Amino acid sequence: MEQLLQQIEKYKQEIAAVTHNGPDSTEAYRIKFLGTKGIVKNLFAEMKNVPNEKKKEFGQILNEFKQLAEAKYESLKKSAGATEEAAPDIDLSLPGDELPLGTRHPISLVKNEIIHIFGRLGFSVAEGPEIEDDWHNFTSLNLPGDHPARDMQDTFYIHKNPDWLLRTHTSSVQARVMEKQKPPIRIICPGRVYRNETISARAHCFFHQTEGLYVDENVSFADLKQTLYFFVQEMFGKDVKVRFRPSYFPFTEPSAEMDINCRICGGVGCNVCKHTGWVEILGSGMVHPKMLENFNIDSNKYTGFAFGMGIERICQLKYRINDLRLYSQNDIRFLKQFISAV
Ligand SMILES: [Zn+2]
Repeated sequence: MEQLLQQIEKYKQEIAAVTHNGPDSTEAYRIKFLGTKGIVKNLFAEMKNVPNEKKKEFGQILNEFKQLAEAKYESLKKSAGATEEAAPDIDLSLPGDELPLGTRHPISLVKNEIIHIFGRLGFSVAEGPEIEDDWHNFTSLNLPGDHPARDMQDTFYIHKNPDWLLRTHTSSVQARVMEKQKPPIRIICPGRVYRNETISARAHCFFHQTEGLYVDENVSFADLKQTLYFFVQEMFGKDVKVRFRPSYFPFTEPSAEMDINCRICGGVGCNVCKHTGWVEILGSGMVHPKMLENFNIDSNKYTGFAFGMGIERICQLKYRINDLRLYSQNDIRFLKQFISAV
């Protein structure tokens, strides 16, 4: 009995000296003291050799020793957890999580390029509301009351009286600028416009335009031609060829549409140019004197030219995008192709 008590004291000192040294040493401690063939079990087995009158006293000592051994095991496990928390399992030498770089939408790319090119010629950007009234969208621009653009079939009206609508072109911005500003005026108006069209590869209920307006003394058709020729050379390359065709717009006189040689087939003929070798890219003309008078600008003193183009059209020729629906479908496979152009 005395010998056993001395042995227990020794074990107690041994337990007190144990410190946390990783999961392996904690497990070794458990096996040594608390395992099925461990010290605690063996000591309990000695009970049968203890004289009956000492059994109670020895039992108490054994139970205390068992609790001590178990408490130590619990504290070893706890400090293992604390160590893991303090030093999480990370490898600082690994490459970090990638933050994917977004891409600019092709419409924005082309719009920004147009702004940049005309900016170099002194044109500044003017903006206006997308919900317009009849005066700014139609009447002030010389669009007569029976013009088909005024038809409910072609325009999204919000209220018929007073006439509020989603602007059908960015010409309404030109009207707003001429209302407030006196010549010289040199602006471009990029923006979104709306028409009541059935959505298909070639038509959409909304699209983007950039219009331009230059009003000053002695502005001639030669200025118009040279400005637009400079623009297409910058946008498509110095080898671009242009041609002007007479046309009609209510707000310009004379009016012309401008074609460039097809950038897709190089002029040989393809679906995009309808096998003519030429593609229409914008409408233009000298500002109608009546329009200047509508805004109290003296048409005897001032002349000007205006032009308008669809941004989607320029995109189609530049990036060969032949379906208008792609622009607004949010298909990531389509959009991420423009990553190098950011
Ligand atoms: Zn072609």
